[in-house]
Amino acid sequence: MGVVFEPFKAKVVEPLALLSRDERQAALELAGYNLFALPADAVTFDLLTDSGTTAMSAEQWAAMMRGDEAYAGSRSFHRFDRVVRDLTGYAHVIPTHQGRAAERILFALVVEKGRSVIPSNNHFDTTRANIEFDGGEALDLVCQEAADPKTSAPFKGDIDLDKLEACCREHAGNIPLGMQTITNNTGGGQPASLANIRAVSEILHSHDIPFFLDACRFAENAWFIKQREPGQAHRSVREIAQEVFALADGCTFSGKKDGLVNMGGVLAMNDPELAQRARNLLILTEGFPTYGGCAARDLEALAVGLEEVLDEKYLEYRTASVRYLAEGLEKVGIPVMHPPGGHAVYADAGALLPHIPAHDYPGQALACALYLEGGIRTCEIGSVMFGRRGDDGSFTPARLELVRFALPRRVYTQSHVDRMLEVAAEVAALAPSLPGMEMVEAPRYLPHFTARFRPRTGVTVS
Ligand SMILES: *Cc1c(COP(=O)(O)O)cnc(C)c1O
Repeated sequence: MGVVFEPFKAKVVEPLALLSRDERQAALELAGYNLFALPADAVTFDLLTDSGTTAMSAEQWAAMMRGDEAYAGSRSFHRFDRVVRDLTGYAHVIPTHQGRAAERILFALVVEKGRSVIPSNNHFDTTRANIEFDGGEALDLVCQEAADPKTSAPFKGDIDLDKLEACCREHAGNIPLGMQTITNNTGGGQPASLANIRAVSEILHSHDIPFFLDACRFAENAWFIKQREPGQAHRSVREIAQEVFALADGCTFSGKKDGLVNMGGVLAMNDPELAQRARNLLILTEGFPTYGGCAARDLEALAVGLEEVLDEKYLEYRTASVRYLAEGLEKVGIPVMHPPGGHAVYADAGALLPHIPAHDYPGQALACALYLEGGIRTCEIGSVMFGRRGDDGSFTPARLELVRFALPRRVYTQSHVDRMLEVAAEVAALAPSLPGMEMVEAPRYLPHFTARFRPRTGVTVS
């Protein structure tokens, strides 16, 4: 097998921000050592998220010019509707401005306050928040293998089937639908196997419970099924994706991931009565059913993106670049979660920085060092995000102290990744002397977005 290279060439280019270390130091101080507060033009390599950060293709830009902005019955809607129905098989396709808008509508219709329980592998934050906002309970039933970052199981996005069966019995009558997130973002971008999705479908349907997919990364998931699941290698990714969708009764998804667009989302389902109620709600908050929360040109770009993402050369390159980054980080001495996910690599800051206790946020320390030494913006997923700070000064750390390197789609080249690995090597060499971070302003909700920090001083360097 030869080198896996980017299966595209550049038509439009955008300069990278190249700051000096002193300039980055100043920017970091101004941002209160919170990378969310950095202006994007102070960032060289932006790996904060893979959401909405894709580079669109020439075909997508051309399609945007064909957008038919008619208020009702737009030609662009019909093109989009045909592509989504071909792919998913679902009869009713409802455009929304992004994934969470689809979730908001779906759960507003099915969740009964104080009664409803929605099982999944792991609910993504916005999915959980929308279920809880409507008074339901979001249950995570991911398989046992997912708990250990060191074991390399092929399908850590699987649902524990015994737990699902028990859940269906215990909450009989109170489960308006079951979900599965593909790939499992909250669990590290890990795929679910076709066999598991099939079994989840059978269990839910045997209890007369509808099955919805959170299908944001359906193409990356289908690619992993083709690569890793016995008996699937000869099938096309499109065929596999179509079978996965056919096992469920509907889906929500954000076009900002495998839709290869910067904005857009979908709610789709077979149930005509539920779809009608969803359209009624859509009109209140998103717009008329033939544009949802989008401009028609956005629907055109999404229709093209949903076709392009199934190109197997693209998926090979995509997953190879994530794996290349993961292997490179390990080589320079930064431990990562195994196996690498479809869209991101998760570095284990707790293991890299054992001298920094959880209440001094090793993930934040690593993320700040990566920025300071080389302009890489990553995202802490540890005790800043999930630690609990009680009013009495108590502190409960997160289960793991991770830093996520999320790769935008079709944006960075291999030499960009090579430069990131040089920076990572410098940071790994500095690891024993990196200071912990003191949270000096701790907002009550979603602290990772707005908290301010300062480095601990007086650290003894060993
Ligand atoms: C991004 C994401 C969402 C929400 O989509 P938005 O477009 O950001 O609203 C839901 N579920 C998963 C798994 C996601 O990754």
